[in-house]
Amino acid sequence: MSRLLAPAVFLMQRLRYAHKFLLICLLVAVPLGLLTALWLAELGRRLDDARQELRGVEYLTALRALLEPLAEADARAAIAGQRDDGGALAERLRAAAAGVDAVNARMGEQLGTTDLWSALRPRVVHTAISPGMLITETSALVSHVGDTSRLTLDPRLESYYLIDAVVDRLPALARQLNALAVHLVREASARGVPRDREEALVALQLAEVEKSALDRGHAVAFRTTPGLRPAVEPALAATWTAVEQLALVARGTGPSTSPEEIVRLHHDAVTAVWAHYDRAAHALARQLSARAAGLATHRALLLALIAGVVGVVVYLWLGFYVSLRRAVHALEDSARGMQSGDFGTPVHVDGRDELTRVVAAFNTVAHRLREEWRRADAATRAKSEFLAVMSHEIRTPMNGVLGMAHLLLDTPLSGGQRRQVETLRDSGQALLTILNDILDFSKMEAGKLELAAEDFDLERVVGSVTALMTPRAREKGLALHASLASDVPIALRGDAGRLRQVLLNLVGNAIKFTERGEVRVEVTQSGPANGRVPLSICVHDTGIGIPPEAQARLFQEFTQVDASATRRYGGTGLGLAISRRIVLAMGGDIGIDSKAGAGSTFTVTVALERAQAPLAPEPHMAASAVTPLRILLAEDNAVNREVALGLLQRDGHAVTVVTDGAQAVATARGGGFDVILMDVHMPGMDGTEATRIIRGFPPPGGRVPIVALSASVLKDEIDICFESGMDEFLAKPIDPAALTRMLARLATSDAPPPAAAPAAGTLLDEAYLRALVEALGAAHVAALAAGLPEEMDAHLRRLTGVVPGTDVTALRAAAHALKGVAANLGLSALAAAAGAVEEAAHAGDAGRVGKLAADLSGCADASLAALRRFLG
Ligand code: ADP
Repeated sequence: MSRLLAPAVFLMQRLRYAHKFLLICLLVAVPLGLLTALWLAELGRRLDDARQELRGVEYLTALRALLEPLAEADARAAIAGQRDDGGALAERLRAAAAGVDAVNARMGEQLGTTDLWSALRPRVVHTAISPGMLITETSALVSHVGDTSRLTLDPRLESYYLIDAVVDRLPALARQLNALAVHLVREASARGVPRDREEALVALQLAEVEKSALDRGHAVAFRTTPGLRPAVEPALAATWTAVEQLALVARGTGPSTSPEEIVRLHHDAVTAVWAHYDRAAHALARQLSARAAGLATHRALLLALIAGVVGVVVYLWLGFYVSLRRAVHALEDSARGMQSGDFGTPVHVDGRDELTRVVAAFNTVAHRLREEWRRADAATRAKSEFLAVMSHEIRTPMNGVLGMAHLLLDTPLSGGQRRQVETLRDSGQALLTILNDILDFSKMEAGKLELAAEDFDLERVVGSVTALMTPRAREKGLALHASLASDVPIALRGDAGRLRQVLLNLVGNAIKFTERGEVRVEVTQSGPANGRVPLSICVHDTGIGIPPEAQARLFQEFTQVDASATRRYGGTGLGLAISRRIVLAMGGDIGIDSKAGAGSTFTVTVALERAQAPLAPEPHMAASAVTPLRILLAEDNAVNREVALGLLQRDGHAVTVVTDGAQAVATARGGGFDVILMDVHMPGMDGTEATRIIRGFPPPGGRVPIVALSASVLKDEIDICFESGMDEFLAKPIDPAALTRMLARLATSDAPPPAAAPAAGTLLDEAYLRALVEALGAAHVAALAAGLPEEMDAHLRRLTGVVPGTDVTALRAAAHALKGVAANLGLSALAAAAGAVEEAAHAGDAGRVGKLAADLSGCADASLAALRRFLG
């Protein structure tokens, strides 16, 4: 059975419901429709026939009105020798002809009588033409009408004999009676003269033939339609009575009759015949009308039935389709919600059909999924908590390891010892990177990637990435360039931190996997803007490249092209997976174009909004970073305390140490601190609670900047710190450079803005330089500084000597390059001055460029001298 149904099932499974219905309807409706159409056509044909026959009867009745006076005229002509009776007969003929005219005008076309009647019409009223001939011609017209109206072809028994009587028999009987009367009158007029009675007897015989035919026909008609009898039978009886009188005379069985008496008997008989004719024609017309009405009703009923059935089918089908769509939409909505973790309420569908069973099954599955989802959610939460705890627990001892390594590096060490400590520090740093990657990825996996929406300076983001990576590139002898196309707007809105993370990862990889050549970052605008800024950020390198087969799986987590490279280059294989997730979350995409051995190009495309407000100038962090601060350090862990204390004292700060929140509050109450470094997790009162209490103090004690120190870097935890009133957050293990930068920022935030002209001591970003020396080693930084004058010279030469009226927009690139070169080695004043020139050049203000550029060489010389002094 199922094999038998297979083709039907195959077909139906491939069609939508609307199409299934259409197909089935077509298959059923086409033959049914065809049959119904045939049926309707047949009904229509019969209706037309009945109407045509009715026309025929009406026409014949009009002709009968003509035949009657014609027969009378014929009898007169035969008996009296003249056809007219002095006007009355001619008048009746004219009236009858007018009657035929009217009928012929209405239906002559349909009955095809127009020509015949036009030929007959003038002759009928012409007194010279023999009535006998006119009767013959009119009888021919009667036969013609009988044919064209299809009366003579009517096969129905109930009408057939009436038609026979009207079309043939009764006119024929009238003719026979005429002939008989003519003979009888002639015989009576020639009294005494023996005459041949043969002709009269023949005429009588013919009349009797018609009589018996009429009798038989009427008997059948009365039998099939009993309703006819009361209407027609009296007329039939009256006809025979009148005809019998004449027949008696003809047979010669009665007393001799005068010609006048015969004329009267003839008149009575003929009058009875025409009266009979009228009755029969009337009955026939009624029959035909009833038939036409019946057929019309029949057709209307059939049409109504078809319309009703089609209407009901369409109505029910729509009901079915709507209920199906409703259920399908409810299931779709529910399934869509489930994909995003919204299980809502079970789908409810009214009814008792098969679909309800599907919905019930869906609800059961949804219920199971809901339970599983809850379990998975709980597991993810547990995993996140575990990771948070693990991260905290690993970071705390790492703080000790790295902190001590940093402090050790600041002490006098032999060359071998320094290398060993540097290895210790680098390994710790690498471990921390791996830890950060895993933590970051697991947060994203748990769907906790939240993007900030803040205004930022794209140029600054790219610049900070190159600044951070330049030392690493230089270490490998690679050139690192970054360029922003001139049409790219730099004031944008989005998550600058995450964008920086992606770029750091791509540029870091590019440097890692390139031994020779260069790494280039190019930012351009791609495609049409339409409200947002579509950015294309390409990171090109001339490194080892990636074979095509490896490219497809590159963005999967823990994927590396080859394991031996991992050992050589290090890494977790998470960086690209994280980058991809970030870019996708921003609504963008990341792609790769690479050939093994021929370098790679990673391209990030993302559309960002424009900044909502003009960007604030970059905070200036100059020499005040080394201003000694009075710092309150609250830290319970002895190792961490030692690390922080060592780093702070190294920078010359005065530090007061406490070991829990309560002590921190008590000590801060007295005031006198520039900054509080507050560990978040402490026994008893923790850092956030202590901060809340301190924020309740009257100023200035309550306003002191508080920096959170925590090994937990989960967003929720950082948010709690800020909510409690802390100003900054520093992750453990503490990055000495970050600590120094932060303290410099906090120390200068209340300081007056730097003077326009660079004063000695504000020329350098000493905090940055110290971090640089720390990262690259003093010798390396000194070597970089030695190459600096030459590097700056070309740019400086382009920028000096500008006079008003020069097209200065082309100088923007030189100013930009000088700014980058200066910033890379901490020449902050020179970088700021070059930045001002760049802005003026961008604005096309040649006068201002000339004025600002004039000071550049002096500033560059002073900055280089300060740098040399700093490096000793
Ligand atoms: P990681 O660098 O930590 O191993 P990533 O996800 O950042 O992890 O990179 C995955 C792998 O992709 C790398 O191990 C390396 O094999 C390959 N790769 C990434 N960037 C480049 C590049 N610029 N040149 C060559 N190979 C690369």
